[in-house]
Amino acid sequence: VFICILIKIGQIKCTPLSEISRQSFMDVRWPEYFMAVAFLSAQRSKDPNSQVGACIVNQENKIVGIGYNGMPNGCDDDLLPWSRSADDRLNTKYPYVCHAELNAIMNKNSADVKGCTMYVALFPCNECAKLIIQAGLKEVVYLSDKYHDTPEMVASRRLLSMAGVQFRQFKPKRSEIVIDFNSINHRGNAGLCHQRGEQLSQADGERPDSAAVSMNS
Ligand SMILES: [Zn+2]
Repeated sequence: VFICILIKIGQIKCTPLSEISRQSFMDVRWPEYFMAVAFLSAQRSKDPNSQVGACIVNQENKIVGIGYNGMPNGCDDDLLPWSRSADDRLNTKYPYVCHAELNAIMNKNSADVKGCTMYVALFPCNECAKLIIQAGLKEVVYLSDKYHDTPEMVASRRLLSMAGVQFRQFKPKRSEIVIDFNSINHRGNAGLCHQRGEQLSQADGERPDSAAVSMNS
């Protein structure tokens, strides 16, 4: 059984690898690692249009909070609306959904997140910027800024800048990271994590048990 999880963290063309290498696993740097964790978390979201994940990291490079966008605890994901538009705003997701940033902060497993860095797939909206500031985070690392010109993002940048919270865009060196669960059974444990290459494509096509989860930013 070949099971893999594919995490796409950008649209930069990756160099095809003809073989799975241990070296490529070693090459996962901290920012890439944390952003990949955010993207993997996002896969849990029930939102059909926008799956966003966030990962909070302290100054020792330890993860202290993870979250993804979803309905509040105890509020059924299947009963509340996921629509982006409707005649009545109450029939859209907006009055109900908790953004990934909020959940990551609320899910923290440390006393607080002061001085921490948040890795998040999308630049935070103004409501999340307020939370980020009040929680004492010092930096936001985001991948996509596709809503850059909306009032929410303009207000967010204004707030973050005034509060002295740094923000910078993450530019991944590769477009995706692949996790092959089956690699643990291979000699040498090669390919625990590797770039998507020909072998995965073959696996996709030929092995019905293969699974790939991908995410576009
Ligand atoms: Zn938000």
